[in-house]
Amino acid sequence: MGLTVQKINKTYRSGETTFHALKDVTLEMETGEIAVILGPSGSGKSTLLNAIGGIDQVDNGDISVEGWNVASLSDKESVNYRREMIGFVFQMNNLIPNLTVYENIEVAANISTSPLKINDVIDDVGLSGMGDCFPRELSGGQQQRVSIARAIVRKPKLLLCDEPTGSLDSVTSKDILSLLKKMNSNYNITTLIITHNEAISQMADRIIQLKDGMIDTVTLNENIYPPE
Ligand code: ADP
Ligand code: ADP
Repeated sequence: MGLTVQKINKTYRSGETTFHALKDVTLEMETGEIAVILGPSGSGKSTLLNAIGGIDQVDNGDISVEGWNVASLSDKESVNYRREMIGFVFQMNNLIPNLTVYENIEVAANISTSPLKINDVIDDVGLSGMGDCFPRELSGGQQQRVSIARAIVRKPKLLLCDEPTGSLDSVTSKDILSLLKKMNSNYNITTLIITHNEAISQMADRIIQLKDGMIDTVTLNENIYPPE
């Protein structure tokens, strides 16, 4: 089933002016794929990600994620959709400062009926033994590992990452992108990443280039898809 986006449009209105942020955007991903969205600032990347994640409504068009008809969910249904299907990772990790690593992940686990084991996830993201640390005791890269753990503990079908390495140095960024790739393959989570980091293009199955609210190009990575 995977993910399909068909001819979605999104317009922002403020006062007299309207801005057409997404124009007939169509794309697809297969279950378990990892894709990146590239494009200049203002090209609609976050708007597209938020529409797929059920945070923003589109004006028209269809979004289907593993059978969920995302574009036509009520507010209440979209809460369930996000809870059952989506993990988010943002540039700013928004960890709760007065909770430990373990407790930050636990907050997310508690809204799931069958979460992964918290200490297993802590191990998975490379933070073994750090469950009792507070966010301020961690480096930026380690904090981002916690936010990835928090996103995957609920076993989402789709992991949406908006500039997950935006505030990290290039070495740490590579580690975080490798971790996202590892989570993608370990848990078969379809993964969509907005990034300016060209390095990840090499590990993505699909590279989606946006320009002025439109799909400019979609490239399938031949290194990952061997010719049949
Ligand atoms: P990107 O993520 O590629 O930088 P965005 O999706 O954030 O692009 O934004 C696309 C365009 O829509 C930008 O020109 C931005 O100014 C505009 N935009 C985004 N959110 C809003 C909003 N809430 N109200 C008005 N305009 C917005
Ligand atoms: P499980 O993953 O099944 O909960 P664990 O052995 O990981 O099993 O943990 C058992 C219980 O101990 C958990 O339910 C949790 O409440 C608590 N716990 C484990 N590690 C921590 C920790 N680092 N901080 C706070 N509580 C913890």
